Amino acid sequence: MIAFEYVRDIAEIAHRHNIKMAVVDNGYITKKLARKLGTLIDAANIDVKGFSSDFYKEVCSSPSWKPVLNTCEIFHELGVHLEITNLIIPTKNDSMDMITDMCEWIAKNLSTDVPLHFSRFHPDYKLRNLPVTPLETLEAAYDVAKEVGLKYIYIGNVRSHKGNDTYCHQCNTLLIQRTGFFPSIRKLSNGKCENCHTPISGVFN
Ligand SMILES: [Zn+2]
Repeated sequence: MIAFEYVRDIAEIAHRHNIKMAVVDNGYITKKLARKLGTLIDAANIDVKGFSSDFYKEVCSSPSWKPVLNTCEIFHELGVHLEITNLIIPTKNDSMDMITDMCEWIAKNLSTDVPLHFSRFHPDYKLRNLPVTPLETLEAAYDVAKEVGLKYIYIGNVRSHKGNDTYCHQCNTLLIQRTGFFPSIRKLSNGKCENCHTPISGVFN
């Protein structure tokens, strides 16, 4: 959002040519700007980096994380296809209590249809003293989200893991398989599971 005018101008040109517009952002913007942006874009992936003010203060130097939640709510309300990414950093935001709170907030204030991506942290820059996120932590978070009732949960930054793929939330059929950035459609047609015909949330056309 440090380049809002650029996003606005590109969205206008893209839509004129029938091209969809997606943004990847930290969601740290005012409600007014989120409303404006939400009318311009088709999809967004917002980083909810942790689920407490203390985490945002300590790690992100931000006084509050509420604007991020507001942005998610506004985008969802405006019909933007919204996905959320949570980078799990060992010792910083890996408590299952915090992850449960976040999942419950998504289910209550957004929808269980909103996809949630748990990403593996890699030690870089100012956090080189911390280890890579253990796979067990990512899988425990995946289980928490499933228990809360979220339907589309992913594990990111781990290659060839089943958490990269999309499954039917009704019958567990593999719908979309992903290898790195390459998706292959398996059992999905017209946005529905081919096995049980459950509609799958997403933009597939
Ligand atoms: Zn199914």
